Amino acid sequence: MYWNKEVETMPREKLRELQLERLKKIVKYAYERVPFYRKRFDEKGIKPEDIQKLEDIRYIPFTSKADLREVYPFGMFARDLSEIVEIHSSSGTTGKPVVMGYTLRDIEVWKEVMARSLVAIGVTREDIIQIAYGYGLFTGGLGFHYGALAIGATIVPASAGNTRRQIELMKDFGTTVLCCTPSYALYLAEYARDEMGIDPSKLKLRAGSFGAEMWTEEMRKEIENRFGLQAHNVYGLTEIIGPGVAHECMAQDGLHIWEDHFYPEIIDPETGEPLPEGEEGELVFTTLTKEGVPMLRFRTRDITAFKPGMCSCGRIALRIERIRGRSDDMIKVRGVMLFPYQIEKALLEVQGVEPHYQIILTRPHHLDEIEVQVEMSKETFSDEVKEIENLRRKLEKHLEETIGIRIKVTLVEPKSLPRSEGKAKRVIDKRGLA
Ligand SMILES: [Zn+2]
Repeated sequence: MYWNKEVETMPREKLRELQLERLKKIVKYAYERVPFYRKRFDEKGIKPEDIQKLEDIRYIPFTSKADLREVYPFGMFARDLSEIVEIHSSSGTTGKPVVMGYTLRDIEVWKEVMARSLVAIGVTREDIIQIAYGYGLFTGGLGFHYGALAIGATIVPASAGNTRRQIELMKDFGTTVLCCTPSYALYLAEYARDEMGIDPSKLKLRAGSFGAEMWTEEMRKEIENRFGLQAHNVYGLTEIIGPGVAHECMAQDGLHIWEDHFYPEIIDPETGEPLPEGEEGELVFTTLTKEGVPMLRFRTRDITAFKPGMCSCGRIALRIERIRGRSDDMIKVRGVMLFPYQIEKALLEVQGVEPHYQIILTRPHHLDEIEVQVEMSKETFSDEVKEIENLRRKLEKHLEETIGIRIKVTLVEPKSLPRSEGKAKRVIDKRGLA
């Protein structure tokens, strides 16, 4: 089942022709309309006409998040505000937020790619789709809303939070599709079971689209088991359009990038050079059709790899592996680089703990210490002290074997770690505070 069969299944050579035609156009458009790009191009001594084939994209300078902050609020806009119909913005936890403006056509594109994404996981107009991503300046809620609207599914625009009400809505309305962060999905399942006496697998949910934070295959299994649904991975970011840049299909084997709108590259984050297929690096996007704020070679800082080969679903769009995390999430401990996902994966490979954990970094004696606090399952919690200690040691051993450094494990009581209604905070770095 496709939303736009012609585009989703077109031969790759034809897609590349379309990409090149659009790339030439958007480069010229950005150069003519956005002083930031004109300046960058002129400094490098390149002209839009220098882009003659897709590979020439490497001559275009990168755009970074810092660049976008510097021109706050509207410096990247290629259109007059009178033509901008909607504004979104990132939260701006560090420095000024990034502001994006959409023309009416940009909203149409967003609708299109989100509709493709939802249809790829089997959503139809028969579905009742509960959108528990935040509505507002954050792109999550409205992005899903537009896609579901295009399909004609019945939208329950619940937004994030109000957990008890979310579950009542699911139960009373017979919600079939849930959209939220994976950590919130877990919390919803836990709350239903423990606070309301509702078995989450008895709800009518059959599919979910989860994203906006790092999660692992092991976490996917946890969510699927609890709700009895198929959990799918969505990818997107405000700078490019919001959710719907890429999405999994029913094959659950990588995320298809909607390449006719977003041209992807994977580069070596150190050198900026493109990497061959299958190698892990930083994802870079060029928007091929965006009018409001065209993005040329935006460095996402997200780490992933292209998946080689074609997907069994028949879509020709390139696939990426699930995001390993942001390059800024990378933890450096005693000279070793690691990602939180490695810890999540290793923890959930061991029986007896719950998928609720926090990573705490300290530097007590001028030396980095890393500790993982993870909740015991109810069964473990009622075990003998000796058994609990055995589990703790087993976890430490498994973490050391899979990650290669010693990590202190502390088992904490069930439900003692904070729950999140949006993006979970996994790492607490106290090293700067000592
Ligand atoms: Zn597929």
